[in-house]
Amino acid sequence: MYVSKSKATLPAVRHVSSTIQFLRSSSSNEKSPQSLAIQGVQLLREPALNKGLAFTMEERQTLRIHGLLPPTVVNQDIQQERVLLNFNSLATNLNKYVYLTDLQMRNKKLFYRILIENIEQMMPIVYTPTVGEVCLKYGLIYHQPRGLYITINDLGHVYDVLCNWPEQNIEAIVVTDGERVLGLGDLGAYAMGISVGKLALYTALSGVQPHQSLPVCIDVGTNNEKLLNDKFYTGLRHKRVTDERYDQLIEEFMEAVKRKYGQFTLIQFEDFANQNAFKFLHRYRNQYCTFNDDIQGTAAVAVSGLLSALRVTKVPLRENKFLFLGAGGASTGIAMLLHRAMVDSGLTSQEAYNAIYLVDKDGLLVQSRTDAAISKYQKPFCKDLPLMPDYKEVIDLVKPTALLGATGAPGLISHEIIQKMSDWNERPVIFALSNPTSCAECTAEEVYKISKGKVLFASGSPFEPVEYEGKMYYTGQGNNAFVFPAMALTAMTCRVKHITEHMFLKCAQYLAEMVTEADLDRGLVYPPLKDIREDSIKLAARLAEYSYRSGIATYYPEPMDKDEFIRRHVYDYEYRNFMPKVYPFPLNELNGK
Ligand code: NAD
Repeated sequence: MYVSKSKATLPAVRHVSSTIQFLRSSSSNEKSPQSLAIQGVQLLREPALNKGLAFTMEERQTLRIHGLLPPTVVNQDIQQERVLLNFNSLATNLNKYVYLTDLQMRNKKLFYRILIENIEQMMPIVYTPTVGEVCLKYGLIYHQPRGLYITINDLGHVYDVLCNWPEQNIEAIVVTDGERVLGLGDLGAYAMGISVGKLALYTALSGVQPHQSLPVCIDVGTNNEKLLNDKFYTGLRHKRVTDERYDQLIEEFMEAVKRKYGQFTLIQFEDFANQNAFKFLHRYRNQYCTFNDDIQGTAAVAVSGLLSALRVTKVPLRENKFLFLGAGGASTGIAMLLHRAMVDSGLTSQEAYNAIYLVDKDGLLVQSRTDAAISKYQKPFCKDLPLMPDYKEVIDLVKPTALLGATGAPGLISHEIIQKMSDWNERPVIFALSNPTSCAECTAEEVYKISKGKVLFASGSPFEPVEYEGKMYYTGQGNNAFVFPAMALTAMTCRVKHITEHMFLKCAQYLAEMVTEADLDRGLVYPPLKDIREDSIKLAARLAEYSYRSGIATYYPEPMDKDEFIRRHVYDYEYRNFMPKVYPFPLNELNGK
């Protein structure tokens, strides 16, 4: 229905009063066209405010967009239906990603609603595995800049570059230098896709306000010859700078973030090469609010899966023997957190180290190995044993209760090994964490069939359910998305000083407690993915409790009800009514008092 301009225009006194009400009733930091003084076509170009055809007639007239849209008015449900129909008609996952990105750049609320309400379908598109392909082809599909690039040439001016970012109220940053992206190696500046994808999950899974997050790509060059010769490559065209300037740039970035956005800004490190990942975590963990998802997020999710599995095996944590195939960033991080969990369960530190074995491509990590590949973080796990290059011999020697693969080597956990694990253990635990599915050390089908359903299995990438003797077995995917969005929401809302290792351990324990007996009976050591948003918010609330109890939260007064407090910050993807609500006139305003 057409609303005449004269009717839509409110008397001045009423307008002031109701605008105040409107701003008071709006959720934290959310913007409105009125607060930004935006109208006309500019409003349609502002993705945080644009509602497309869902602008009402009254809004169209008052905000000067009448005539700029087709005359129909539709609600968000119809918009979602249309987007999903188009999405499903696209032939490739890359096309689907581009289509969703385009929506995100036009209409944020609709984008997040679609992500949140269709999370199982959308996660593999906005994040792994499609994001890997996206990063490989970032130059080809590039059409609009996203995130902030800081290059080695900006040394000495990083703060000025940060100041170019249009949002002022940044509370979370995901930063990558692209040296080791997923299992794809050095992708240089193309790794921006990772920072963007992770932050989309911050909002979709735990409700972080999108305008408070900033994706950053540090570009110091790339050693990837293919990219250096790619005419569409978007980064600096030279080899990586690895001398002291690299460390200076990271240091300057950390300081600039603190200066611009404050001490409590969360900085998540992502896809740095192993050595740098451990180095920066060690250097900054007690100085900033920071964590490394590849090390700590992976560790929390894997340890959580192990704790869930132990609910079924009934073997107390302290009585287990864990053997890792692979001793890279993933395995080392998991082993370190597992060590902490075992110490918490009553073992001495040495007893806990003794119960954890690491094997790399050269065999068991033993003290007599002098190769440079063994880092100071791996050293405590080295055993006082002779060199054992054959991993099969190590398995026979240790007879582990739990075997974890993170090598990227498919088929490493053979039929024979699965059979032995089943002979030695009533309920063996096997995790094949390598990504993508084609790189997993064994398949779900092999595990369930060879062990006759005895193995408790989890993977890094998804596997289809397996039917064995009339029973369906489902595989839990050890997805870091169970951990990092909740961790981020807690850190941001409670203004956590430093994210401690114990906080990751608590996260692993709380997540394991969310797995129901019914989930375990179906083979799942993680909660179902379809519930991940609600579970992330509940997890964030429990982490908030913990952060106050342990003295690392600094937001005061301490909220009494943490669940309510966390939910109050969660991003609302419903469109807001941009017309000020009309309240009865307060008498004193009418009387001009
Ligand atoms: P990395 O390159 O740092 O480490 C790989 C390790 O595997 C090295 O120690 C290497 O020596 C060892 N290795 C390789 N081939 C081997 C073989 N045939 N036998 C024994 N050891 C062998 O890699 P990373 O970051 O530790 O990641 C490893 C795998 O774990 C990747 O596939 C990655 O996708 C996956 N991952 C999964 C998750 C998750 O499930 N949440 C998280 C992070 C990484």
